[in-house]
Amino acid sequence: MGDLDPQDWDAFRAQAHALLDASLDKMQTASDGRVWTPIPDDLRARLQSEVPRQPSNPADVLKEIMPYGVGNTHPRFFGWVHGAGAPSGILPEIAAAAMNVNAGGRDHVAPVIERQVIDWCAKLIGFDADASGLIVTGTSMGTIVALKVARDLADESAMKRGVIGGRLVGYCSDQAHSCVKRAFDMLGLGTEALRLVPCNDAFEMDMDALRAMITKDRKRGLEPFCVVGTAGAVNVGAIDDLETLADIARDEDVWFHVDGAFGATAILGELARDRLSGMARADSVAFDFHKWLQVNYEAGCVLFQNEAAHRASFSDRAEYLRGSERGLAGGAFWAVDYGPELSRGFRALKVWSHLMEHGVDKLGRSIDRNIKLAQYLQAAVGAHDQLAPMAPVALNINCFRYVADGVDLDALNEEIVIYLQEAGIAVPSTTRLNGALAIRVNITNHRTQEADLDLLVSEIVKAGDRLRCDFTV
Ligand SMILES: *Cc1c(COP(=O)(O)O)cnc(C)c1O
Repeated sequence: MGDLDPQDWDAFRAQAHALLDASLDKMQTASDGRVWTPIPDDLRARLQSEVPRQPSNPADVLKEIMPYGVGNTHPRFFGWVHGAGAPSGILPEIAAAAMNVNAGGRDHVAPVIERQVIDWCAKLIGFDADASGLIVTGTSMGTIVALKVARDLADESAMKRGVIGGRLVGYCSDQAHSCVKRAFDMLGLGTEALRLVPCNDAFEMDMDALRAMITKDRKRGLEPFCVVGTAGAVNVGAIDDLETLADIARDEDVWFHVDGAFGATAILGELARDRLSGMARADSVAFDFHKWLQVNYEAGCVLFQNEAAHRASFSDRAEYLRGSERGLAGGAFWAVDYGPELSRGFRALKVWSHLMEHGVDKLGRSIDRNIKLAQYLQAAVGAHDQLAPMAPVALNINCFRYVADGVDLDALNEEIVIYLQEAGIAVPSTTRLNGALAIRVNITNHRTQEADLDLLVSEIVKAGDRLRCDFTV
């Protein structure tokens, strides 16, 4: 027995079973009660303790903290873009914790399962059989990995000498996620090298503007090296015209990356699939398992058409990491050759387990049902005099607001959202569209029902009617 193994296995076993039951209770009652619950002051204080010099038993605290998460397991969580998770996620996490593998490389089950998940995803997106990929924390990291490969192809000396002279420039729409900008920063390209292309009325990238910007940059002696399309933008769920983007990338000979954090997975359903066909022509695609696919946090994926380019950008193993033909240092797929991390957990297991348990057809139907719910909410908003739509409903996101004459609508709607969150009724978030504040309702939640949206609408109107007198101008 090791220093850190339990002294009393029977007691540890009993504790583990009790916590498993508490975890299952938490998930079985996910649709009940409040959405978000603020942390009680005394718990917050106890969680901010001194360094623990002596042993104590954290098991009770593990149970005690469970009600104070984000609230995204609840059917009326509509904020930002969060997945709701699934009870099935508990099992592979237990197995992965028990195995405690390091999935950075070598010949064991973790790389085999990770590689299998990557193959499945590449096939579903429409990539060729020799596609490459990596399971990552999320789309933010996937974007960094993807754009590094694009950068290294465009500038052979970038890896050794850094990016010199600021010649390389890239493009995404002004609706693209901030992780693209962060990747430009982290890859030494500089955020000014990322051009924000304006959008049309549907919040999709304006393709004529993109062409014009590329031409102008070339004339100035700069070197356009990538375009980033968004499949499901955070603000309103817009999907860029990916087929045209693929054409432009081919004509201009630049890398085509798709940020499909949540939207890419709608390819599993029927309702948005046609608008996602252009992903198959991308050089790289990044997306999340933890959003619309409902895998428990966190797991995302980045895929590449060109395995050699992907590997060349990261594979630089030191002597102590040398592979071998046989033995534990064998194995064909070493994640360390495809991304910046060496030691990594067995994230692939929960993804594999989730896909096995549900099958992708059911996951696609669940996504389609969310799209239909967004249309249902759109109709409810349209039918209400006190509510005004702020953007077209492209996919699964509604942006609208409570309206009344003679009030500061931005401040009132902000207050309505905070009230709903604090009352535990629902969690929408807010955004700004064309300068105006909107209530934003994102549905990437397999638990949401029509009745949840009915309640949301009636509570927004009730709150607006009650609060409007505080915001008269
Ligand atoms: C959530 C999101 C991201 C970032 O993904 P993470 O998994 O949070 O890192 C990027 N792009 C879009 C469109 C997103 O919705």
